[in-house]
Amino acid sequence: MLNNLTNLKAWKSWLEAGLSFIYPEVCQYCGQERATADEGFIGANCRQNVKEIQPPFCERCGLPFEGEITTAFECSNCHAMELHFSQARSAVAAKGMLLDLIHRYKYQRAQWLEPFLAELLIRKASPALQGGKWDMIVPVPLHPLKESEREFNQAERLGERLSAATQLPLRKNLLCRATPTRTQTQLSRAERTENVRQAFSWQKKAPVIKNQRVVLVDDVLTTGATTSACAQVLRRHGASDVCVWTVARGLLN
Ligand SMILES: [Zn+2]
Ligand SMILES: [Zn+2]
Repeated sequence: MLNNLTNLKAWKSWLEAGLSFIYPEVCQYCGQERATADEGFIGANCRQNVKEIQPPFCERCGLPFEGEITTAFECSNCHAMELHFSQARSAVAAKGMLLDLIHRYKYQRAQWLEPFLAELLIRKASPALQGGKWDMIVPVPLHPLKESEREFNQAERLGERLSAATQLPLRKNLLCRATPTRTQTQLSRAERTENVRQAFSWQKKAPVIKNQRVVLVDDVLTTGATTSACAQVLRRHGASDVCVWTVARGLLN
């Protein structure tokens, strides 16, 4: 049985590799322009729809703020929550086309989008992480049931690419998701915090990470409830600092 499964997987990946040769180099969003596999099949025109997160934003959670603010500030999101990371930053806004692409990537297994999403993250995060302040990258874990259903953990995949770009080691054997949580999309801020409060724990046999400075990676950050819950567990097991980087920043309506 196991052998059959392994064969099936090998065959599937062979098939996917084969398909990538004959996959047309067309933008998968508009179908109107050229886009290669390396570009994640998203063309130059569609890329203009992506909204970068620019200052001013909240010092702590990175929430962008409309209007003129020149002094450092923390937003009401941060005041309402007890956040366990020191800073969170995102590359782009999670809306419109970008949000749609992230959903396809995660829920429809559109893994050909990964180079595009990873590139957005790396372009912003990599320069910000230079300078030797950070020791490792840790992806937000998925519950094993969800991971086997989805066949991959998007945070881990993005973390792998960020790790290759920054030379910071990826440590995926520290955190685990003990409880399968409900998806957060329909939940309020308070419900999100409660939903993930006990969700994460330390893997059995994982070492303490005394005085290590951790970059926590996920695809989207909205209130920060999930990443904060992870940061709390990391700090409890020795991390001296935890910052967060995500591809996109979601906004609660
Ligand atoms: Zn396009
Ligand atoms: Zn904030």
